[in-house]
Amino acid sequence: MPELPEVETTVRGLSRVLKDRRVDAIEARRPDLRRALPNDLGQRLTGARVIALRRRAKYGLLDTDRGDTLVFHLGMSGHWRIDPSELGKHDHFIMVTDEGRRLALNDARRFGSLDLVSTNELDEWPPFKALGPEPLGLDPAELKRRLAGRTAAIKLLLLDQTIIAGLGNIYVCEALYRAQIHPRRSGGSISLERLKRLVSAIGDVLSEAIAAGGSTLRNFASPDGELGYFPKSFAVYDREGQPCGCGGKVRRIVQGGRSTFYCPSCQH
Ligand SMILES: [Zn+2]
Repeated sequence: MPELPEVETTVRGLSRVLKDRRVDAIEARRPDLRRALPNDLGQRLTGARVIALRRRAKYGLLDTDRGDTLVFHLGMSGHWRIDPSELGKHDHFIMVTDEGRRLALNDARRFGSLDLVSTNELDEWPPFKALGPEPLGLDPAELKRRLAGRTAAIKLLLLDQTIIAGLGNIYVCEALYRAQIHPRRSGGSISLERLKRLVSAIGDVLSEAIAAGGSTLRNFASPDGELGYFPKSFAVYDREGQPCGCGGKVRRIVQGGRSTFYCPSCQH
């Protein structure tokens, strides 16, 4: 499942093909993904120039010179294919640039989405309206304010997109491990000192994954390049029963219906 680093890597890869390019043609090969595609997609995108590509939480944003932003979410299995030699049945949306590059949004499980929103109304767009701040560049004092009075487990609060936007299960587990904070600790009880360590751990795990993803981009320009997925290694995630550097063993618990991996010796 694509997390923030995969989305960031995807946006950077798409940027090399789409930045300042005109969209010559699009093709919606089915009417919907998770929800219906906008039916005026062709009218609003064809002939438009892509002036900026960026990311918000786990969404990729393509701003056009017509004041629209194409917003994509990769869902569970989505990825963009660059210059596919032939189209497959899961290539649901195609975009062709004025340089003749062809991009296909492939999504076998169709949990992804594609929307077109007025760029200057993005903050008010329902999926964005309640989102908290980005995890990269987060101010620890701001996090402290957002956690104040909250008695729920820090693990669950970090997954709450209204508190911080874009963090998923893997990176929350890894960041709590690095910051040596127990996943069940109540969010409001954590000192500013420890939150500073947590914020820098969040920044580090995300930046390292983005850097790993970036190093895979050199292959993307070749035909049939795929964006967004790359091998990663984790300290605790999916490592139940395996040794931690401290000599203890990684444990798995379930919180909010999802697995948490942590080291009971290192995290308190
Ligand atoms: Zn340990």
